[in-house]
Amino acid sequence: MATIEENVRNIWSRIEEAAQRSGREGEKIELVAVSKTVEPGRINEAIRCGIEIIGENRIQEAEGKFQEITEPVTKHLVGHLQTNKAKKAVELFDFIQSVDSERIACEISRRALDKGKVMDVLVEVNTSCEETKFGIEPEQALPLIETISKLEGIKIKGLMTIGLFSDDPEDTRPCFKRLKTFFEEVKSANVPGVEMKCLSMGMTSDFEVAIEEGSNMVRVGTGIFGLRSY
Ligand SMILES: *Cc1c(COP(=O)(O)O)cnc(C)c1O
Repeated sequence: MATIEENVRNIWSRIEEAAQRSGREGEKIELVAVSKTVEPGRINEAIRCGIEIIGENRIQEAEGKFQEITEPVTKHLVGHLQTNKAKKAVELFDFIQSVDSERIACEISRRALDKGKVMDVLVEVNTSCEETKFGIEPEQALPLIETISKLEGIKIKGLMTIGLFSDDPEDTRPCFKRLKTFFEEVKSANVPGVEMKCLSMGMTSDFEVAIEEGSNMVRVGTGIFGLRSY
């Protein structure tokens, strides 16, 4: 089995190649190592191999593990957030990628202001037309962004999506295309206070396709840490 170091190197070279296919440089793309279910020792190891951002999807799990993450790293919440966990999320994370309602945005903002900070967030958009997924519907996303951009405790930095799950990444390409188009629309809307900078799309099975379609932030779990055992 490959080591974490080999995996990280492999993912970066694939990022670089995909970036070149889309006329960009790999360095411009951020790699979030999604470390859910991975024990702190192996997360520390990944950070020593150059990982600068980790992603977790559950508050409770993150709370337990973060005390043991001794290497310096930026922490992103990539999973769905419930309002009753917003306070903890603001304490634990530097960045929240999964804002998909006014209610959760207000709560994050309120809790961040209580702590004297401004939380960087992405708005999660449902691009796959599946009812089971989180994320706001594309038609509702711009009105949501306009509304929550006025909140003082959050700063909107871009968009996130989880593409359609499929064995063939080509099936997911239209989701990424859709989000990229929408990203440009929001950018041109020039909503005050909104900085359309991050386009977070692509996971282990589809990050290269996502980069080809304009992603500048990929979230890779299995590709770095191996298969998850729950
Ligand atoms: C688990 C997860 C990932 C990473 O998934 P892999 O297929 O292991 O790369 C990315 N994004 C989110 C939101 C996740 O929950």
